[in-house]
Amino acid sequence: MELLWGVFTASYLVTTVRAACSDCAYRGCHKVDNSKLNIHLIAHTHDDAGWLKTVDQYYYGGTQNQAAGGVQYIIDSVIGELDADENRRFILAETGFLWRWWNDRGEHVRHKMRKFLESGRLQLVAGGWVMSDEATPHYTMLIDHMSLGIRFLKDIFGDCGIPKIAWQIDPFGHSSEQGEQFAKMGFDAVFFGRINQDEYLTRRDKREMEMIWRPYKDGSTIFTGVLYNLYQPPDGLCFDVSCHDEPIMDNPRLHGYNMERRIASFVNSARTWADAYQTNHVQLTMGGDFHYMVASSWFVNLDKIIKHVNERYPDLNVIYSTPACYLKAINDLNTTWPAKENEDFFPYCSYERKFWTGYYTSRANLKYYIARANNILQVIKKVGAYSNTWNSFDEFEVERAVALAQHHDAIAGTQRQHVANDYALYLHEAVHRSKDMLTKAYRSWGEVIESRHSFCMLRNISECHITERNRKFVLYVFNPLPTETNFTIRIPYHHPIQAYESSNLMVYGDIMPVPPSVMAIPGRHSLAKSEYVFQANGIPAMGFKSFYVQHQNPTGSPTADQTSDDYYNPELPELPTTELTLGFDSGIQIVINTTTGLLQYVIMDEATWYLEQSFGYYEGTNRWTSSGAYTFSPSQRGLIRLPKNPTYTVHRGQNVIEVHQVFESWVSQVIRLYRGQQSIEFEWLVGPINLHDTAAKEVITIYKTHLVTNGIFYTDSNGRKFMKRRRDYRGKQRNHSPRIESNYYPVTTAARIHDDRATLTVLTDRAQGASSNVDGSLEFMLQRRLLVDDNKGVTEPLDEKSFGVGIVTRGIHIVQFTTNSDAAYLHRTRSLAITQGPLLSISPTSRTINQWQPASTSFLKGPVPENINVMTLQKLSPTTVLLRLEHIYDVDEDPQYSVPTEVNISALFSRRVKSVKEVTLDGNSDRDCELGRLVWSFAGNTTRTDKRTDLVPPLVVLEPMEIRTFVVYYFP
Ligand SMILES: [Zn+2]
Repeated sequence: MELLWGVFTASYLVTTVRAACSDCAYRGCHKVDNSKLNIHLIAHTHDDAGWLKTVDQYYYGGTQNQAAGGVQYIIDSVIGELDADENRRFILAETGFLWRWWNDRGEHVRHKMRKFLESGRLQLVAGGWVMSDEATPHYTMLIDHMSLGIRFLKDIFGDCGIPKIAWQIDPFGHSSEQGEQFAKMGFDAVFFGRINQDEYLTRRDKREMEMIWRPYKDGSTIFTGVLYNLYQPPDGLCFDVSCHDEPIMDNPRLHGYNMERRIASFVNSARTWADAYQTNHVQLTMGGDFHYMVASSWFVNLDKIIKHVNERYPDLNVIYSTPACYLKAINDLNTTWPAKENEDFFPYCSYERKFWTGYYTSRANLKYYIARANNILQVIKKVGAYSNTWNSFDEFEVERAVALAQHHDAIAGTQRQHVANDYALYLHEAVHRSKDMLTKAYRSWGEVIESRHSFCMLRNISECHITERNRKFVLYVFNPLPTETNFTIRIPYHHPIQAYESSNLMVYGDIMPVPPSVMAIPGRHSLAKSEYVFQANGIPAMGFKSFYVQHQNPTGSPTADQTSDDYYNPELPELPTTELTLGFDSGIQIVINTTTGLLQYVIMDEATWYLEQSFGYYEGTNRWTSSGAYTFSPSQRGLIRLPKNPTYTVHRGQNVIEVHQVFESWVSQVIRLYRGQQSIEFEWLVGPINLHDTAAKEVITIYKTHLVTNGIFYTDSNGRKFMKRRRDYRGKQRNHSPRIESNYYPVTTAARIHDDRATLTVLTDRAQGASSNVDGSLEFMLQRRLLVDDNKGVTEPLDEKSFGVGIVTRGIHIVQFTTNSDAAYLHRTRSLAITQGPLLSISPTSRTINQWQPASTSFLKGPVPENINVMTLQKLSPTTVLLRLEHIYDVDEDPQYSVPTEVNISALFSRRVKSVKEVTLDGNSDRDCELGRLVWSFAGNTTRTDKRTDLVPPLVVLEPMEIRTFVVYYFP
């Protein structure tokens, strides 16, 4: 492995971005004849990077008794069959599998693959590490897995390895952010398998299966094609060894001759499919899940189809083709295409009228783990860029674990349990490796690190062995954001502790009790009954700061503010009012109804607003129509509210106030206010979900306001722009009757409602499904415990267990009730802090406070504007880095910050910048490759390339919501 990796690394280091854009995808296309119907046979295999078995079981072909599939044999077999006949073509997606194969095979067969690629006989599509889900990944995850996959392809195949066609044939709905990203990566088209059934039928009947999609208003456009039959062959024409259809038997001297009948069947299907498309070209997807393990079974029959149809049907031209060759052929026709603008493809409803809106929440803990690991990855890349301990192998291992998790049966939560465990294991290894990388980096920056850093990943359930069991330890906070930041730290402890900024500067910390429901979480092994909560202020931009923590001197007594005497005692309610107002002299205040125990109002700028928050659940049935890992299908009972009268206690500190509520033995939460903050934190805890009444449950939290929303709400597209949702609206192409589940949309980081007076924004710490089923409200699905499978292939109910009982999930919502003008600023800055924010690591020490040297370092040379984030800073070689800058505000979103903004790239580095080159969003091609995409006419418009008046790098301008990617070359 080490040696093989060396091959990758060494060539990668000398890879520089060249101006040439690959045209390999358009090479080797068979001749089309526009006087005929051209039938493009697309030989392909759909290889899930984990689903019924793990990614590596699928690669090696293990456990065939559980599920078929062996991707190494598929690639071997296809190479052999391409070699056998130069007429044949094949496409490959899922670079993660190709990476495994490439490292596993010798130069002879690698050389063959390279030749097939250069001649266009083998084409790579999409090129991402996996075929990602589109509903639940954060936009940084989507960019990264594409960047990683294409980087590998470019490394081994050169520019010829860079795909031009995106291929999202199985994901369960399609996001605007993903469409926009594909355009920015230079793709000429994207092809889908699944869209909402109503939209599919309408498009099919109107011959609008292909369109020019502008995913965001004022954004890019991309040619988008919907495949006729998901990604499957026509009925009866599956020739894989795993299929049961008849082969073409064309020798009349042998028994069973069926050629004319089989060919007629093919022609019939092809003409039907072609009727759904505008031109005299049609793609026939000839493949399926893990097909081509015996590639000859497909190719031999396709050879015969081509031969016999072309001989017998003068109006038909059947050819081996690829999506790129098909695209080039229809682009040459100069047709005008229908358009789809400022909409995405959610929610997905399949042919049997089931809504695939459950997977937005399925496996809530895995989704959280992926989000945390991604945050760590984003930090680790920047740490590597600023330290001399960078190790490309380690960084790649972390990258590929997070990339794998983006697969459409990974982060989606739609895999078998043992496969979910395998994704978590890869993430665990990546997190572990990241600790080592961080430890080495801190040492390289002169820090005395006595033992390896820990992230204390269980702090979300108030458990951390290092802080509980060590008398002295050092906290490090690395801030990857380009602005100085404050960061709240909560440390679970057993023995009272005190934090210091320096030997003579104590940091004030509030002491908050750990709720009994948290202490009772199965599998929690912690002595901590309290948390020490403090504000780590002034963490330098793109830099770090350290804090020292030690046990309090047993003879010293804590300050009066920290004693439990200061807590509100629930047995002495603040009568006579029935309302309890909590808050600080600045920031938002909350009002608890002491009769119901629920949050009832918020006070913002001296105005009182109704905001009630509570929990409920939807019930499943045990029929096949019930919810499953993919689908959400609540029973007729609708939303069942949990008891309206939770018990509660209030805990006041100097800088934090907490309300601990218990709704049920399996639902509780902490509502938290921090001094000076405009946000309310809801740390909810769900599970083990009670199944004693034998009903499956999908637990939600609901925020109700009196905002006048008229059915309108907003959900984010992969954590970036907000998409406008209209309850019960089906659009031009849809006509199904509205249901609870049809109004659910994916949220990656935030959902919002507003009227002309105020805005409610709710930020999440992981992807969740969300809806507004009642005007003025937002609801989020937190966790699901189901009892039956939804017949989509997993064959396991989504009934997650750990420690012998149903799984427990704890997470955070940040709720912002604000004036409309403040909404974007509060949301955008907080969202960045949640997804790409500071990383806390902890290391025990033997030094005394006086021996310890406090550290506070920024690696930035100059300031970066407040509305700009340094999204990616990744070392490519000792003298080059990949840099992504993002404007974090949308157009017209904020009166001050939604403006084009100038950035001086050289301000990011203390090293002298030699040159800067702009590249595509994935970082692997010259920006010209995006600008030089195929041009299309549509609905009175023509796709045009982006023209900008720019400054000379290193000075660049970012428009609102724009991401720009650069390779920066330093002087050695
Ligand atoms: Zn799939």
